[in-house]
Amino acid sequence: MNDTPKHSLAFWIVFILILLLVAGFIMQAYFMFTLSQKLNIVSQNNASTTNAFTTFSSTTLSRFEENEKKFVQFSDMLYEEQQVTVALTDAVDKFKRQVGKLTGTVDTLEKLTTTDPELLQKYSRIYFLNEHYKPADLSFIEEKFDYVNGKEVTISSEVLPFLSDLLEEAEDDGVDLIVLSGYRSFTEQGTLKNVYTTNYGVGANRFSADQGYSEHQLGTAVDFTSTTIGENLSAFESSEAHTWLLQNAHKYGFVMSYPENNEFYVYEPWHWRFVGKKLARYLDREAKNFYDIEQRDIDTYITSLFD
Ligand SMILES: [Zn+2]
Repeated sequence: MNDTPKHSLAFWIVFILILLLVAGFIMQAYFMFTLSQKLNIVSQNNASTTNAFTTFSSTTLSRFEENEKKFVQFSDMLYEEQQVTVALTDAVDKFKRQVGKLTGTVDTLEKLTTTDPELLQKYSRIYFLNEHYKPADLSFIEEKFDYVNGKEVTISSEVLPFLSDLLEEAEDDGVDLIVLSGYRSFTEQGTLKNVYTTNYGVGANRFSADQGYSEHQLGTAVDFTSTTIGENLSAFESSEAHTWLLQNAHKYGFVMSYPENNEFYVYEPWHWRFVGKKLARYLDREAKNFYDIEQRDIDTYITSLFD
């Protein structure tokens, strides 16, 4: 009998173990293969990602550089715009100044054509005023300030506000200051002179201007007095009113026409003439007399006469 050799149990155990080992090895190999493939894919992906990133970076960078350039260009343009604006503003300012100058010139010209040049002319024994001269417009001074002698006092309407200010200020300071005489026509001046001449003879020349010589005909001159002195003008020099005028009249544009020891006329401490605030202040500051400065220098004040 063929005895089929019987395998022992140990054989089968070894056989199965070998089988399992082989299967395990195959599976492990398979896993390794799959894994390497996956790794490959991942690394490939990685590479493309890196590529993409590099491309992206460089694109972004170039775009950024491009933008930066544009920004610089834009800044430059903006700067140029600003420069243009500054230049334009300067031009506008310059134009404004020119217009201002032109307006000023027009104002000055207007003042020159509308301001009576006679108002700053010298009149005395050697300077003459035309017999037909009459101020453009005359006004009465406030009643409380005129000396009551049956006649109202008039003065150039343009000078009145300055005279009123002066009189009001003196009143506020408690000073007795009023007006004896203002505007006098050529005829009135002649009549007055005749009265004086009849009473005082040729000596009248020393205290009353001949016809045409008087500043009173201009309508800008006044003879001041006080209620206690009235027509007794020789007492005016030592009055409080006179002292006040010496200190304050220039602030209102008035100057004493014929101060003591002047070469043009007898000393008249009561006789004051309106020459404008600017010129009066100048004369006061420099301690000069109206009649002592050149006519051409006086004429430069004509445009500011009523300022
Ligand atoms: Zn006078």
